[in-house]
This record gives sequence, C-alpha cells and structure tokens, in this order.
Amino acid sequence: MKVLVINAGSSSLKYQLIDTITHQSITKGIVERIGADAEFSFSTRDDRKIKSAIDAKNHTQALTYVLDNLKDPANAFIKSLDEIDAIGHRVVHGAEEFSASVRIEEKVIKAIEKCCEIAPLHNPPNLQGILACREVLPDTPQVAVFDTAFHQTMPKSSYLYAIPYEFYEKYGIRRYGFHGTSHRYVTMKAAEFLDKKLDEFNCITCHLGNGSSIAAVKNGRSVDTSMGYTPLEGVVMGTRSGSIDPAIVFYLMKKENLDAKQVDDILNKKSGLLGLSGISNDLRTIWQEELKGNERAAVTRDVLVKSIRKYIGAYMVELGTVDAIIFTAGIGENDWNIRERCVSGLENFGIVLDNQVNRDAKGAITDLSPFGMKTHVLMVPTNEELMIALDTEGVLKK
Ligand code: ADP
Repeated sequence: MKVLVINAGSSSLKYQLIDTITHQSITKGIVERIGADAEFSFSTRDDRKIKSAIDAKNHTQALTYVLDNLKDPANAFIKSLDEIDAIGHRVVHGAEEFSASVRIEEKVIKAIEKCCEIAPLHNPPNLQGILACREVLPDTPQVAVFDTAFHQTMPKSSYLYAIPYEFYEKYGIRRYGFHGTSHRYVTMKAAEFLDKKLDEFNCITCHLGNGSSIAAVKNGRSVDTSMGYTPLEGVVMGTRSGSIDPAIVFYLMKKENLDAKQVDDILNKKSGLLGLSGISNDLRTIWQEELKGNERAAVTRDVLVKSIRKYIGAYMVELGTVDAIIFTAGIGENDWNIRERCVSGLENFGIVLDNQVNRDAKGAITDLSPFGMKTHVLMVPTNEELMIALDTEGVLKK
C-alpha cells in the first residue's frame, strides 16, 4: 500500500509518501510559510533536496502543489494520484476520545474539533490538513493517528494531578502525554529486536529531541509518561522548561509584571537548553561552547542529564522489571555522550553500557549493553511517519 503521511502545522505541511510493503519512503518534503512567501522543498529519488518559492495561500493550495509534484513524470514517484491508497494524518491531541488510530469520518472530525480546546495550537492545523485532503482527494480513505493515543492505557494514578478533582471533570485537566507514536514504534522495534513478546515487554523509552518525553511501558502498554496536560511538563527540552515549581509562574507574573500569555511564552519558547545556557536550543552548539570552557554550557548539560535520570529512576521503580532502556530521536540517537551520562553509575541496578559500542552506534538499532545483561540499553531510530503509514494500513484492512 502507498500511504501519504501528512503532518500539518499552523503554517506548514510536512509529508512523506511511504510504501508499507518495503517500509521505504518514496519521497518526502515540506511546504513552509503557507500564507505568505511559501517555500516548497522535497527530496528526489536520488535523495537530492530541491527548494522553490511557491504561491500557497492556504493548506489546500499547499497540498495541491505537493500532489502535482508527486505525479510529475520528471520525478518518477507515482504515475497518477490513484496510486495513493490512503492518507495518514498525524493528529496531536485525541484527549480521552481516541485510544487508537481511526478512519476519518464526519463524527471523527467533530471529535477532533472538540479536542481543539485543549490543544489550541496543534489540533486546528491538523484539522486543516484533513479538510484539505478531503477537498482535493475526496475518494481517498484517511486515517487519524494521535500523539496521545498510546498513553491512554495509563492508570488513573499516573494521569490524575492532585488538584481539585472537579477540574479534571470540568476541563479534562489530566496527564495525556505526547510523542505516543514514537514511544510505540521504538517499543515495538525493541521487542522485535530482543525477540520478546510485546505483551510481556517492559521498557523505558527516552524520546530526546527538541521536544523530549520519557515513557514507562509495561507489557507493551504505556503506564506513565513525563509530558502532561501539555508538552511543557517533564524533562528539560530545547526551549521548554520541563517540570518546574508552579509557584515560579505567579512570582514571575508579579515581579516582572507579566500576563499569563507572556509567562507561557517564556516557559515554552525561551527556557530549556536555550534559556539556561543563553547559547542555543541545539545541544550540539552547547557542546561546542562547553569545549571552550563555558561553565553555563556545562551546567546546562548537567541539568538536562539529571532531569532525564530522574525519570529513568522513577520508572525503574514503577516497572520493577525493565527489559530495556531505549534512547531515540535527535539527541537519543546521535549523542553518545548524553546516553553515557544518563545511565552511568547504574551498575548496581544491572544497567551497564559497552562504551565503545555506545560511541560507535549510528543509524541502526543497536544494543549498547554488554552481552548477557538483563536490562538492555538500546539506541533505536524512531520513525513516526512509518508508524503512521502502518497504522493507516492496519485500520483500513480491519
Ligand atoms: P524534533 O523534536 O524537532 O523532532 P529531533 O528529534 O530532530 O527534534 O532532535 C533535534 C535535536 O537533536 C537538536 O536540537 C539537537 O540538539 C539534537 N541532535 C541532533 N543531532 C545531534 C548530534 N549529532 N549530537 C547531539 N545532538 C544532536
């Protein structure tokens, strides 16, 4: 099956055409700055990147460009749009409505609209992507894959906050968790790799990218995760603070004369690695500064590592038995130094790294622990788009 995977943002449309038989990406690309000065870039068959300015005032026009590009004979991706068997959409928030991927029908659209209230930044553009596809390819089946769905198996003890219960009932304020598609994908891959049955597999998945979250997975199901009501909670991220004492918010509002929106902006866009280091949200740049002796860079790295270790420790206790600690996403897949620091000194818990293997790991799933360890440490490249494509196929074949 050929599945067009769509990830629609407020002014962008990211896509990938995936063959679910070979698991290969045929092409991928993005339309950015939809609305004004739009730019389209895509990868060719021989993996060259081609960029051009286009006129795309809305998501429908952006999608039309993408589809024209897909069927352009010069690119040799597909001969006609009939070859696109289905469309899989990344939808950020499914709240308590969706615990699995679903075929998009009228009532699903209504339910996604309902979820806009708790995900006002993400769900409306996701919905725009869905509506654009309906308009341009009305006969192609569409499936929604939710970032929150994998975490819907969390027990109440993990998802409830200790605030007045009425706020959960009235507004749905609870932990939802995000990056579910990635946590689920790397869990599946790791179980397969270690030759374990998924429903008997326990792991801690560390998705460490620009946005980061960690999940505790018991018998293949998410039982806890670090992101909460929004993606702001949890470990230190590129520009997000992660968990802080909520009283800091009120103090800052008072002292700096800020309103809620301004504090929201600080915690989401000006904090994390960027805010603490004053250098960058990109860990690679921070490393470079640290090598030059920048102390704030070094302490930023230490704060990041400590925040990750706290969750690993908490989830080890929560799970009791851990078959694997998994590192994935930009930092998790590429930064051996962070991986080494995150699990150093855990020998007494049966967690050991083969330092050389850890340093050499690149591009493919790798067991970073020495032979015979009960708890494996794995580097697993994530592939959310492939997961969305496979889910889309799975839902439609049901
Ligand atoms: P996103 O959350 O936007 O999908 P990614 O998963 O692509 O982010 O991760 C992006 C982050 O990964 C970058 O900000 C950078 O800090 C980090 N990263 C990527 N490559 C490396 C590398 N080779 N070494 C260290 N960090 C890296």
